[in-house]
Amino acid sequence: MKIGDYMSALRGAKRVLLELKRHGYEAYIVGGAVRDHLLKLPLTDVDITTNAKPYQVAKLFKTKPTGVKYGTVTVMMSDDTYEVTTYRIDGTYVDTRHPESVTYSDLVEEDVKRRDFRINGLLMDEREEIIDLVEGRQDIRDKIIRTIGDPLDRFNEDALRIMRAFYFQAKLGFDIDQDTLSAIEAQRHLLEKIAMERIMTEIIKLLKSTYAKRAIHAMVTTKVHTVLPGLEKGMIYIDGMQEVPFVDPFFTICFTLHGSIPDAWPFSNKHRHRYQMASQLANQYESFDAEALYTYGVDLCLLANKVNVMLKRARNQRTQIESDFQNLPIQSELDLKLRAHDLMRLTGKKAGAWLKEIQKEMVLAILNGRLENKKEALEQFVLERIKT
Ligand code: ATP
Ligand code: MG
Repeated sequence: MKIGDYMSALRGAKRVLLELKRHGYEAYIVGGAVRDHLLKLPLTDVDITTNAKPYQVAKLFKTKPTGVKYGTVTVMMSDDTYEVTTYRIDGTYVDTRHPESVTYSDLVEEDVKRRDFRINGLLMDEREEIIDLVEGRQDIRDKIIRTIGDPLDRFNEDALRIMRAFYFQAKLGFDIDQDTLSAIEAQRHLLEKIAMERIMTEIIKLLKSTYAKRAIHAMVTTKVHTVLPGLEKGMIYIDGMQEVPFVDPFFTICFTLHGSIPDAWPFSNKHRHRYQMASQLANQYESFDAEALYTYGVDLCLLANKVNVMLKRARNQRTQIESDFQNLPIQSELDLKLRAHDLMRLTGKKAGAWLKEIQKEMVLAILNGRLENKKEALEQFVLERIKT
């Protein structure tokens, strides 16, 4: 869905409701879209709940079978898409994440009761009438996040809801209800059974949200930071900062203080490498000379410096680093004014490891200001080297 195209998303969703109703089904907008509509926040996606079965929905609209196993089809309407899910009761939770079985229900009440938080359990019809079976509106008014039903049971069913509570706190700036908080603290160990990918997704969403600081504080208060591998020291430190760092500095600070990146985190190779290198550079360098800038690149050096500033180990050198990098006499071996084939011709040698070595020497000499990146100067440098 096009984010921000708020009215059209809502209008489209109402058309889906009307079409379902015209065919004799019940249908409501549900969950985050109703919550965000009441809070006048931009809608990210619109979920619809209905007693029509997926195949019945598929007969009425252009659809994609996104999660038929869980009763969900994606309806495509003009430019927007809507997740339409059949009323469900979730079965016993085996791995505390995926419902073992999906049982359809004829009652919207049952569908609402399976949802996580009262603020996420509101229904809205095509006239924008709110149907509130779980006192969700009260919680929105009071700015409170609390589970539907007993929090101990609900986190036991699905511990990812612990992370979701913090994400909604970060997004909305709400408080988490005291009973829900106590249950989180008591059940935090259940997070160890949840796939790290899902935990990571929630943490990243949280860090990108407006009220990340409140969520980090609540996580530390409920000791959830102790069950997230390698984040314990970092989160305590960050809880004491004025502002919560963004995603990359957040993880780099945590892993710098922890001393390594636990394997459990399913970062892409690119991100793992980035956090690894930035952490190493932050430990190694107080400032970045030409050789460091050339070798590691400006992004990693900036991140390392940012982390050191946040750890109060260095001054902010951002402008310096950026301009030094811009002014490097050479930024890549490809910029050498003497190419590999020139080198072979000049020396009469065949390609080999020596090429890389001498290129590296030339680059270093240029970076240190001992050599000019001009063809003649480079040729002379090479010939002298060869002699020795
Ligand atoms: P946002 O899209 O702003 O992140 P949302 O409330 O729409 O928030 P989604 O993850 O899109 O969150 O889920 C849609 C709805 O599905 C929720 O509002 C909630 O009612 C229900 N839901 C999602 N995940 C769970 C869960 N783990 N347990 C119970 N209900 C859930
Ligand atoms: Mg959503």
